[in-house]
Parts: sequence; C-alpha cells; structure tokens
Amino acid sequence: MVQHELTIYNTLTRRKDVFIPLNPPFAGLYVCGPTVYGDAHLGHARPAVTFDMVFRYLRHLGYKVRYVRNITDVGHLESDADHGEDKIARKARIEQLEPMEVVQYYSTRYHEDMHKLNVLSPSIEPRASGHVIEQIEMTRTIIDAGFAYVVNGSVYFDVSKYNKEFNYGKLSGRSVEDMMAGNRELDGQEEKRHPADFALWKKASPTHIMRWPSPWGEGFPGWHIECSAMSAKYLGKTFDIHGGGMDLLFPHHECEIAQSNAAFGKEAVRWWMHNNMITINGQKMGKSLGNFITLREFFDGRHKELTRPYSPATIRFFILQAHYRSTLDFSNEALEAAEKGLKRLLQAVNTLDALEPSGSSSADITTLPGDLKKAMNDDFNSPVAIAHLFDAVKIINAVKDGKASLTSTDITLLRQCFQEYVTDIFGLSDQDEHVDDRKKTVIDGLMGIIMDLRQQARRNKDWTTADKLRDALENLSISIKDTKDGATWTYR
Ligand code: ZN
Repeated sequence: MVQHELTIYNTLTRRKDVFIPLNPPFAGLYVCGPTVYGDAHLGHARPAVTFDMVFRYLRHLGYKVRYVRNITDVGHLESDADHGEDKIARKARIEQLEPMEVVQYYSTRYHEDMHKLNVLSPSIEPRASGHVIEQIEMTRTIIDAGFAYVVNGSVYFDVSKYNKEFNYGKLSGRSVEDMMAGNRELDGQEEKRHPADFALWKKASPTHIMRWPSPWGEGFPGWHIECSAMSAKYLGKTFDIHGGGMDLLFPHHECEIAQSNAAFGKEAVRWWMHNNMITINGQKMGKSLGNFITLREFFDGRHKELTRPYSPATIRFFILQAHYRSTLDFSNEALEAAEKGLKRLLQAVNTLDALEPSGSSSADITTLPGDLKKAMNDDFNSPVAIAHLFDAVKIINAVKDGKASLTSTDITLLRQCFQEYVTDIFGLSDQDEHVDDRKKTVIDGLMGIIMDLRQQARRNKDWTTADKLRDALENLSISIKDTKDGATWTYR
C-alpha cells in the first residue's frame, strides 16, 4: 500500500514519529472508554471526538482500522487507586439497583450522547466484567513471571522488582524513588510491600457485591489490568496506537505498560497518544467545583454555567478547533464563536453545491488538498486544516457574491475537499439542527406549563393527575425526575 507521511506524537518517546503500522494495511487502535456510573460530560467528549477523528483519518488514508474502546464496569475504585468503594457498586447502592442495571443505563445514555456527537461506534466495545477470565489469566502470567505477589487473597504488582529490569515511570516521568516514599498509611495499603505497588486482583470484602471466583479466592480485578488484557485479546500482544485522556497517563497507562512488559516481556503499545484536558472558565472541571457540565446539559442548556443550549455539532467543532494536545478552555463566548464558525463552514458546503462555474478561476485553490493532508499528517493538526478550509470559504463566498470566479474543475475539487474533510473526517453536519430554534422554544415553554401543572397536582396531593401526566410524558420518551429542589425533565 502507499506509504503515508503521517507523523504522530508519541507520549512515550516524546517526539513525532512517522506512523507505520505493524501489519499494514491493518491498524490497531485502543482507547480507554468511560467508567459508566454517570452521564458523560465535556471531559468524556474530548477523547471520544479526538479518537473518532483519528479513526476516521486512518480509514481515509486507506488503513483497515480495528478500533477497540472499552467500557469499565468493574474495578474502578473511587480513589483511582486501590482503595475506596467501586464506583459502579457505590452508585448501585445509592440508587438501590443491581450494578449491571447501572452499567446498562449509563452505557445506553453514553451511546446516545456519542451518536449525537456523530462519534462512530468502535469496531469492538468490550466490557471489563465480560473479560474477568482474561484478566485472571494475565494476572497469573505476571505472578509466574515473578512480578506480582499474593497477600491474603489479593494480588499486587511488585513495582520495585519490575523496575530493576524495566523502567517504571517512563511514561509519566515520575521517579520510583519518589513513589516509594509515598504514604503507606492509606486505607487498605498495608498489604502492599511498597506504596507504589498496585492491585491486579483484590479480595472481595463480605459486603462487596461484584465478585468472581479466582485462584486466590473470591474477588474482583484491579482497574488497570482490564485494558492490558482486552487490548491483547483483540489487537494482539503488540499493537499500533493506544489513546486516552492525559488524566489517564498515571497511574492507569503507566501500570498498563508495566503489566504488558511483565507478562509478555515486550512493549504492547507502539504509539501512546493523549489528548489534553478541558478547563471551564480557566478552572479544572470537578463535581465539587460545581462546574461539572454533562453533555445532556449542554444539549438542553440546563446548567447554571450555560447561557443557552449548544448543539452536539457545536461541541464537536469546538473540540476539533483546538489541537488535541493543547488545553481547551470552555466558556459561553468560546462556544458561541464555535457555533458561528461551524455555521459559516456548513453554509459554504451548501453554497458550494449551487455555485455557478466560470471559464476561468480568479483564485488558486489547487493547493488545498495538499495543504489539508499536510496539516492532518502533522500529528492530526485539525485547527490548521480548519483554517485552510476557512480560506476556501472566503473564496466560495466571493464567487457567490460575484467578486471572484472558479472553473467547474476547481468547484469539483472544492466539493471533494469539503466532503472528505468537513463531512467524512471531521464528521460535521447540520443534522442535529433540524429541531429549529422556534420549535425548541415552544417545546420548552409547553414543558414548563406541564411541569407546573404536575407540581401543583402534587402539592394538592392529587396523585392521579400527577401520575397521569408523568405516564403520558413517559410515552413520549420524556423522563421526569423529582428532586428536593423540584422536578426536572429529560429526553430518554
Ligand atoms: Zn484503560
């Protein structure tokens, strides 16, 4: 196949290397997916959109991509380390549900959100709970290789032993000495030989809900082993690209590197790719900071930080306008600017469809395909590619206004470029603009009236009317949630 000059920045080697897959034309891509215990927020949208663009561009170049994006449904503890309650189990306890009900509910909602963002489905979407056997098997291999030890039904990775042969901390740049000096007094940490050691398997306490039999007794897998086990299963012991957010660099990806080296004696991943974080008005995003905005809240505008709703395509364009390795700051102004830019770009697509050709061209657009490709081949530089598209938009609009001219050959070339980059690679379209502003205003107004009537009925203890309204809305796929501050509604 044709050799492409695609260079990708490798977080591990800290330089851009020309991408040559292990087995061309096949390319393997693994991306850490969500832990499904709540609705996806802006921080989930960035890796999803970034690696969707990577997936689409690799396919555009002609690679046959196997894209694996997992769902974490067990083993991710609250601390992101080896103590605290399982995030899914905690939610299940609070909501009085089976853990797998929580997983099903939020996986479905995650898929709905991704669909709205025009994020393509991965080729395989494995769940951690469906691969416990593989995780046990890999843990056993690591024990047999001498890099893990069993204590009281739990299995821990022996970081200091590993570090004598390999280099623990090379991805994140942390030194093992510093990590060794960490706090030993943390809850449940006393079993570890060293504070830097991490769990491959944890013994389940009598009240722990999600548990499986293992050679070491009943328990559950550690968070990091799932990605090593599932990527090896579906992409092989060595594969091309592993992606995720920068917040996963340590400990998650550092531990993945150690696990694969310990089990297979070689590096699993050839390119490590990390997208940078999203800040909100310059601040870190967090539940406790009150600036934690879910995608659904963006889409319906129901969050105190939002002045109004923003379409999924606007969110997608906002993310693609920045390079994936740059930080991206959300503000209403930034999203409004993205919305304007997107509108201009999509309008140009429509204008292009109806553009009248001339006998000669007043502008040279023949470099556009090369410019776009060069930008994307430079570590997926979407903002530069988008800037080239906007240069073309100026010409398109000038032709429309009779101030410039293009031949039919040039118009065909432009159409092809916009189809390939705007639609196919950046996945931008106005499909979600179909509910126009006026309809949306009417729906919001009507819902306000209905919600008021229902609240009134409830205050009057008229449960028949209140339930009738709720059931009727339920039939329209609208869910009502009663909270102590009143009721809210969402599309199901
Ligand atoms: Zn992962």
